[in-house]
Amino acid sequence: MMRIGSGFDVHAFGDGDHVVLGGVRVPHGRGLLAHSDGDVVIHALCDAIFGALALGDIGRHFPPTDARWRDADSRQFLRHAAALAARHGYALGNADVTVIAEAPRVGPHVQAMRENLAADLGCDIDRISVKATTTETLGFCGRAEGMAAQACVLLERV
Ligand code: MG
Repeated sequence: MMRIGSGFDVHAFGDGDHVVLGGVRVPHGRGLLAHSDGDVVIHALCDAIFGALALGDIGRHFPPTDARWRDADSRQFLRHAAALAARHGYALGNADVTVIAEAPRVGPHVQAMRENLAADLGCDIDRISVKATTTETLGFCGRAEGMAAQACVLLERV
């Protein structure tokens, strides 16, 4: 028995000198405006897991109105999502995440992101894919107003 889920997340750029992607601090001339650390990779991945379980979305599990999640390290969200999947009898089959941004360049950080995500999900790294694309300067990502990520996961009944 398998279940599939998809997730999507966007954050706008603001003042700052880095962004956090997949738990990796990536130097950049802008930061991301967010209640938490604005990690679009992990937010999209969490939503994909919640979606596969049909258990709502990240805003339901970690409301942005809750002061507990202010400047939160999003990796705790991912560990929560993984624990929830396990409690419902599922393990991660694989996950595939696409970062959508003109900048910063993601490629040099992909391996470190995959290591973080695999650690938080308790799976082998070869089950985790992180890749990146631009939007050829089109749209809000193309204008560098913000960045986005989308994720797909497959959960397998244990
Ligand atoms: Mg988000």
